[in-house]
Amino acid sequence: MVRYNQSVDAYKEAVDLMPGGVNSPVRAFKSVGMSPVFMESGKGSKIYDIDGNEYIDYVLSWGPLILGHAPDHVVTKLKEVAEKGTSFGAPTLLENKLAKLVIDRVPSIEMVRMVNSGTEATMSAIRLARGYTGRNIILKFEGNYHGHGDSLLIKAGSGVATLGLPDSPGVPASIAQNTITVPYNDVESVKLAFEKYGKDIAAVIVEPVSGNMGVVPPKNDFLQNLRQITEQNGTLLIFDEVMTGFRVGYHCAQGHFHVTPDLTCLGKVIGGGLPVGAYGGKREIMESVAPAGSIYQAGTLSGNPLAMTAGYETLSALTEESYEEISKKIDRLVEGFKQAAAEYDIPLHVNRAGSMFGVFFTNKEVINFETAQQSNLDYFAQYYRAMMEEGIFLPPSQFEGLFLSTAHTDEDIEKTIQAIRTAFSKIEK
Ligand code: PMP
Repeated sequence: MVRYNQSVDAYKEAVDLMPGGVNSPVRAFKSVGMSPVFMESGKGSKIYDIDGNEYIDYVLSWGPLILGHAPDHVVTKLKEVAEKGTSFGAPTLLENKLAKLVIDRVPSIEMVRMVNSGTEATMSAIRLARGYTGRNIILKFEGNYHGHGDSLLIKAGSGVATLGLPDSPGVPASIAQNTITVPYNDVESVKLAFEKYGKDIAAVIVEPVSGNMGVVPPKNDFLQNLRQITEQNGTLLIFDEVMTGFRVGYHCAQGHFHVTPDLTCLGKVIGGGLPVGAYGGKREIMESVAPAGSIYQAGTLSGNPLAMTAGYETLSALTEESYEEISKKIDRLVEGFKQAAAEYDIPLHVNRAGSMFGVFFTNKEVINFETAQQSNLDYFAQYYRAMMEEGIFLPPSQFEGLFLSTAHTDEDIEKTIQAIRTAFSKIEK
């Protein structure tokens, strides 16, 4: 407790001011049994809380900070741009610059529209899919998260082609019934859903590597099968690459797996730590968006100069080698996790796809939401608290991956492996 005095006091104040004391639910640290830690600053791979504790950061603002905190060249550019004015509500050259870069790097994107968050990107993409196809139904996968838009906040329904029920009070049943959920990595369920509803399915939306039930990669040509089924049925395939985009690899998950969707949603890394999202895809489809076409979507701060600058400077600093370097660090970490698990007899399953990885406290394979839930959440909470004590900041949820940046050093990795061994040695079974 001594370690977190100021954070504990700050949280007491915050719970009276904001629902649950936070502006986004996971920040309340609910599943790990501790009071949330309030952060003050970050530099490179390190983050510092208001009590002055230093941590090696594997949260990285839930993914965006792929260069680490406050990279010098990004901060310098942001200062320059801020001096000239922070928003104009009129086009700027900075928007062209980032759009060109995104089009160049993401195989499916011929045209792009910038928005302000991942949620906005997915909400806008499914409106576009519905408007473009003239159909209403969306198919999504259990355990995939696509932001908090009504149509996508639908809980896993069991079995095939189950009509969705509202996952959250406030989502009208009339909206939820247009969303079908099936298990991830289950092509047979997708086929059955298409047999029943095929002509009415506007889009299949999928995280090409699941990052919101822990990390779960696609298995056995899952993505290739989705591509084929959607093509055969006149349905659009949407890759939600808000998390995987510019993280799984240089050309995103679609480049890594060589599957090209019709539309792609981006967020997180594309904004380099400022609020940005984007959706893009085939020119013919994107030209249906207003004012080129009639499907409406707009934003007062969309394409904001500061956000465009952070995104552009971040993405242009990344090379194919950056991902190889991150990948090598992950190799080492994975090895460290496995050795510590063997040494202390902890059940552990590691999932990995490119520069994305996560661990589960189970010996069984994790391929979907159901199997992800086999993870021992008590072990996770104990491990989490012990890692905090060792100065390692991890996402406070079993159902997330770990994020690395180009700023993480070999020394950080070795220190983290030591911390894992200490944490595993303390787990009470
Ligand atoms: N899609 C995916 C795959 C995500 O991981 C997230 C956020 N974790 C979102 C959409 C929503 O993005 P945002 O929180 O920026 O609205």
